[in-house]
Amino acid sequence: MATKNRAVPPIPIRYTICLRHTLHALLALGTLLDASLARSQLVPGSMDVHWNGGSQDCKAVVQPPIQMHAYNQRTFILRENLCATFEAPFMYLLVGSTKALLIDSGDVADPKLMPLASTVMQLLAADGPAKTALLVVHTHRHLDHRAGDEQFTRLSNVQVVGFDIDSVRHFYNFTDWPNGLAQINLGDRMVDVIPTPGHNETEVSFYDRNTGLFFSGDFLMPARLLVSDSSAYLVSAQRAAAFVRDHPISFVLGGHIELDANGETFPWESHYHPNEHVLQMTKDDLLALPGAIISFNGFYTRSGKFVLMDPMRILIALSVFTGVILIALVMALVLYLRRRRSSRTLQTAVQE
Ligand SMILES: [Zn+2]
Repeated sequence: MATKNRAVPPIPIRYTICLRHTLHALLALGTLLDASLARSQLVPGSMDVHWNGGSQDCKAVVQPPIQMHAYNQRTFILRENLCATFEAPFMYLLVGSTKALLIDSGDVADPKLMPLASTVMQLLAADGPAKTALLVVHTHRHLDHRAGDEQFTRLSNVQVVGFDIDSVRHFYNFTDWPNGLAQINLGDRMVDVIPTPGHNETEVSFYDRNTGLFFSGDFLMPARLLVSDSSAYLVSAQRAAAFVRDHPISFVLGGHIELDANGETFPWESHYHPNEHVLQMTKDDLLALPGAIISFNGFYTRSGKFVLMDPMRILIALSVFTGVILIALVMALVLYLRRRRSSRTLQTAVQE
C-alpha cells in the first residue's frame, strides 16, 4: 500500500524560542526542586544557642570550662570557655551508628582544667554503650585545635589521627594533596574531607552529609582569617566553593569567633566577647570567600564581612619599619654629635 509523503511544515521561530524558554524554565525548576529535596532530606538541627561571652574579670567569675550545645540528638557543638583560653575554640562531635567523630580537641591539655574527654565519653555513653568507638581528627595542626589529644590517647576504642601533613595525607589516603576528597564512614553517616590549606598547610574541612553541616575550622569563621599562603588559600576557597555549590549546606561552622555582632574584631587575646557574632556562617559566605581572597593585599584587608591578614608579613613589615626608624635616629644622633664636636673644636681654635 502506497503512503502519501506529506511534507512536515516547519515550526515557526517564535514557537522554537518559546519552547527553548519553557525547557530552560523546566530545567531551572528541576534544579531548584532537586536542591530543596536534598535540603529537606537533611537531618535538621538547631543553632538556637547563646555562647558564653567570657568575662572582663575571669578571676571574679567562675564559669564552666566547656559549653555544650546539642544541634540535634547525634550532633554536638562544644566550646572551651573564654576564661579558660582566649582562643575559645569550637569542637564538634558527630555520632554515627558504628563510630563517632570528634573534630578538634581544643586548646587546653589538662583534664582537670578542661574535662573534654570525659564530657565527650559521657555524651557517647548516653547514646548507648555499643557506640563508643571514637575517631579524633583535626581541622589543622595548630595547638589550639589539638592540645586535648592527650586526654584521648590512653582511652580504649579511641583512635587519634596524627596532625602533621604526612599523617593527614596518609590517614585519608590523599595521593594528590591538596586535590581530591576523602570520606570518613561512621556507619549510617558519611563525612567528606576537603583539603583547605592556606591558613595552615594541614588544614582540612569536613562536610557531614547527614546534617549538611560544613565544618571549616580556621579556614572560614567569624574571626580574623590568618593567611599564611594566599595562593593555596585561594585555590582552597575555590575548591570548597565548587564543593558546596553541588551540596545542600545548612550551616558553615568554624573554629573560633573573634567578631562582634557588628563585624568588628575583639582585641587580640581578649577573654571577654560582649555582643558576640553568631558562630554559624552560610553557603553564600563560603561562595564569596574566593573573591575576598583575590582582593587581599597581602597584609591586611577588610572585604565585606571578611577580615584577612598575614600576621607574619605584618610582623616583618613592622620590624623593617622599626629598624629603619632606629637606624635613622642613630645616624641623626651621630651626625648631631659630630657637628657639636666640630663646632666646639672650632670655638677652641678661635679662642686660642
Ligand atoms: Zn585556631
